[in-house]
Amino acid sequence: MFTANARAVFGPEGPFKPTAIERRDLKPHDVLIEIKYAGICHSDIHTARGEWGPVQYPLVPGHEIAGIVAQVGSEVTKYAVGDRVGVGCMVDSCGECRHCQNGEEQYCLNGMTGTYGAIDRYGQYTQGGYSSHIVVTEEFVVRIPDGIGLDVAAPLLCAGITTYSPLRHWGAAPGKKVAVVGLGGLGHMAVKLAHAMGAEVTVLSQTLSKKEDGLRLGADRYYATSDPETFKKLAGSFDLIVNTVRAAIDMSAYLSLLALDGTLVNVGAPAEPLSVNVFSLIGHRRSFAGSMIGGIRETQEMLDFCAEHRIAPEIELISADRIDEAWERVLASDVRYRFVIDISTLGNV
Ligand code: NAP
Ligand code: ZN
Repeated sequence: MFTANARAVFGPEGPFKPTAIERRDLKPHDVLIEIKYAGICHSDIHTARGEWGPVQYPLVPGHEIAGIVAQVGSEVTKYAVGDRVGVGCMVDSCGECRHCQNGEEQYCLNGMTGTYGAIDRYGQYTQGGYSSHIVVTEEFVVRIPDGIGLDVAAPLLCAGITTYSPLRHWGAAPGKKVAVVGLGGLGHMAVKLAHAMGAEVTVLSQTLSKKEDGLRLGADRYYATSDPETFKKLAGSFDLIVNTVRAAIDMSAYLSLLALDGTLVNVGAPAEPLSVNVFSLIGHRRSFAGSMIGGIRETQEMLDFCAEHRIAPEIELISADRIDEAWERVLASDVRYRFVIDISTLGNV
């Protein structure tokens, strides 16, 4: 066993406290990673607060992990000590079902293993990236290209891939009109990525307070959803809408913004059900869809795409003592645009 330093919550209300966690001894295909940076995703908050179901505490969240390989198992072939690597939302899957075989491990028919809050194949409870080290099988480790700093690489492992995957799947490209709802961690990556793919990008945010940022990030247009005129003006406009909002919003109003055959893909994951007026779908053969993170192969493709197009998230680097404060700001939609924890500030327990 390897003892790692970590920050954990011991109940739904927090706060974070320093703790020590055990990482398993390296299996032949395992990689020990010294974590340098960990992003804060809204999913960390939904999970830790029990919004998505029961949680076992203490919980160490964090599935946007960037670091350096510190040790490799006897049969590891893909990575060597010193390599710059990342780990996202999954650390394992069955590897045998048709989805795993297709490189879509996130949809593993036997259930992928989440980076935290899951039971792994060894019967151990997984703990995430708000920690000094993690042990992961090499198949679930990705390489961070040299052109991307480790601090800004971290959010790509969830916010990046979760928006890249649906943009690719539904064909964001020149000539396509894409709208992004919510300019937070996922939303700001969706804007950058859709712009780099050549699509015409519109941001739909609650207010115009971040309009300058949105345009600088690559949006062509920016509208406030608090203004009812927005929905009249943009009716029937978009080929694809990526909804990143973490709360239940009026889906039918957003569906009415789609053109014929358009798709609204939900990546935001509010605990409450979203209701849809079917007439907002059938009149224009529209689709209402969902998408979850992305497979390992596609995650590597996304990292390489970001390096090639010089895309990186906008981050606010914080010390480990400020995680609670950062969570409060995420909940208040006061994030510009991803908090990243400097793991060197974790300290010893
Ligand atoms: P975030 O940084 O908090 O961004 C969410 C954005 O939603 C906010 O910045 C805000 O944008 C908007 N928003 C918040 N409350 C709203 C409300 N009541 N009404 C309308 N808009 C509101 O969160 P995130 O980390 O990007 O995550 C977003 C969601 O995606 C979460 O539910 C998360 O769990 C989920 N997620 C899903 C996947 C997946 O695989 N599908 C992966 C990661 C995360 P404006 O201020 O611009 O309005
Ligand atoms: Zn996430």
